[in-house]
Amino acid sequence: MEDNERVQKFGAKQTERMQWFSERYDDIANGVLAPGGRIYLGDKTNRQCRYCGKTRPAVKFQKVAHAFPEQLGNKTLLDHLECDTCNEHFSTMLEDDFAKWTMPLRSPVQGSEHYSPLSSILRPLITTQTNELVVMALLVTVTVEGVLHLEFPHLRARPPSLLEQIASAKKLVRRLKNVEDTFRTRINNALDNMARLRTSDKLKDLRKHGVISKQMIDAWQSLRNASTHATIDPKVFNNERLWHDGYTVAMMLHLILFTAIGYSGRYMDFSVTGWPEKEFLTPTLDSVNAETSTNVEAASPT
Ligand SMILES: [Zn+2]
Repeated sequence: MEDNERVQKFGAKQTERMQWFSERYDDIANGVLAPGGRIYLGDKTNRQCRYCGKTRPAVKFQKVAHAFPEQLGNKTLLDHLECDTCNEHFSTMLEDDFAKWTMPLRSPVQGSEHYSPLSSILRPLITTQTNELVVMALLVTVTVEGVLHLEFPHLRARPPSLLEQIASAKKLVRRLKNVEDTFRTRINNALDNMARLRTSDKLKDLRKHGVISKQMIDAWQSLRNASTHATIDPKVFNNERLWHDGYTVAMMLHLILFTAIGYSGRYMDFSVTGWPEKEFLTPTLDSVNAETSTNVEAASPT
């Protein structure tokens, strides 16, 4: 099948699904689920279960039925038209598993449950199919950048002399006559970039301190480039390589976070086949003998 044809078929299928939903369901405005009042669906005096179609006395309507799972934050929208039998069925057969499955994904929005935001990045990486994996690759590599930016602002700081030179160059640009504004902006941007700390520099620094390995930086680089520039071609997809790089970068992210929070102790190394258990020792990042630190490099396979 041609790609175009496949896309069209998929689009048609989606449209069909959306129609099915819009015929059977009403949209609920976002604000409706704010804590406070309760909203009941259906007629309380004339109850017929919307799922099994049964009425009293064949089924009972004594339990509080949530229109969609309570675990997802629904305390507001309740259903008069769900019998106790169906309610029981959904909660034992579906909702518990569903809640567990979506647990890491829900963590950033549900403050009451203490799942780390990191798990929301890692979980999809482990559970997704190939296509989503490309998206996850982008997410996990960008997360590395974000964490480095937040937790390690001073790694590989630019020398003051360079910053001074950049500042005087910018002054010079301001004084230039007969140039267009766009030209001025572009030069200024280029100068700002020179002053900015690059993620790869920070990663190299962390490697020097023995936090991460060269293999991890390479995996990050290839994943980052491929996913940002969309050069992963589905036709020649090296799935195994992508998985491995994904795990390796996720592992690197763990080690960086261990360093950020000062964790020392056991961990499982997902970047090595068989996931061996290892010992992590948080390095002192400003120590002079940084090169002697051997958390990862020595133990990693080539
Ligand atoms: Zn029912």
